[in-house]
Amino acid sequence: MKQFFRIVFLLLLPLLFLCGCAGPSADRNAGSLQGQEPRQVHSEGTAMGTVIQQNIYTRGEDCTEDIAELITGLEEDTFSWRLETSELYRLNQAAGSAGGTELTDEMAQILRQCLELTEASGGAFDIAIGPVARLWDIDGWAAGEREGEFRPPDGEALSRALALCGSRRIRLQTDADPEAGGEVTLFYSEAGTELDLGAVGKGAALTHILKYLESDSDITGAVVSVGGSVLTYGEKPDKSLWKIGIVDPADPKRNLGILTLEGQWCISTSGDYERFAEADGVRYHHILDPATGYPARSGLSSVTVVTKDGLLSDALATACFVLGEEKGTELAKRYGAEALFVGESGEITMTSGMEKLFQRR
Ligand code: AMP
Ligand code: MG
Repeated sequence: MKQFFRIVFLLLLPLLFLCGCAGPSADRNAGSLQGQEPRQVHSEGTAMGTVIQQNIYTRGEDCTEDIAELITGLEEDTFSWRLETSELYRLNQAAGSAGGTELTDEMAQILRQCLELTEASGGAFDIAIGPVARLWDIDGWAAGEREGEFRPPDGEALSRALALCGSRRIRLQTDADPEAGGEVTLFYSEAGTELDLGAVGKGAALTHILKYLESDSDITGAVVSVGGSVLTYGEKPDKSLWKIGIVDPADPKRNLGILTLEGQWCISTSGDYERFAEADGVRYHHILDPATGYPARSGLSSVTVVTKDGLLSDALATACFVLGEEKGTELAKRYGAEALFVGESGEITMTSGMEKLFQRR
């Protein structure tokens, strides 16, 4: 486990460098400046099975611990498929029960957005992929729990798991007008169907972090990364723009280039280098094609999406990876998002808006 986080930390080092932070701020105790000049506070930690990095400019208290707790709370209360405390766990446990399960407003909103993305992506993005994701034991790879023992699932087991997947096996029912606070109930048509919010949890966390930052007028700017999803907010004291590194999938310790962004954005990357396992010299990654149950082979090694909303950037990055460059570009455009694609041979293509943001190294 420790080794995994050490590796992930190394992969994120280029990003850390670009954010311009060399460890805890030197002017943390610059008492006379406090209240006027924002100081930089920095923290690194782990939550949601990934590395969290925060660089925050504030005139007030160091809020990085509050934000770390907020992310851990989201994992425990909402997104984890493993922890019995989470809403997702309870929903999956109730799969197949006749009465369905009532959703919190937040979960109802997340599921609606995800189902819309499933529709828009022609099923390439599908949160009802839990049984297949469990069979591949993706979270086991991340934790290094089965290092050297990994075997891909056999075709028959995969077909059985695939038969339980797919968002057509779930249904949302709203009691009244959702805008007027109507209750939403989730029904699964079959026991064994399981939702997996791994493709959107980190991006959705960015929305909560943004709300936190906006609620504190002492905070003037921030860059917070939750694994492959990054939030930029406000501005730096010297007014220079945010710089976000795009990892080279062929050598994840290096950057291919940087994005330069002004103000609030969410940037999510899905890449075949982020989580993978090997067996008999074949490498299997964690972004699955719901049509086959196997890791998606769309000619891409990574996709980066830039948009305002965190859940959307995270979901689109996963969807575009499965769809490949051509259909992925169409999908990103449909949502007004910018996308950058890195092909298996390292070739880079991007939407026209992205060309204005990206500089090659
Ligand atoms: P990401 O790294 O954001 O692309 O998300 C990948 C994670 O989402 C995986 O670890 C699975 O838990 C889940 N997942 C894999 N393939 C898909 C897919 N096609 N649609 C939705 N979720 C997926
Ligand atoms: Mg994603």
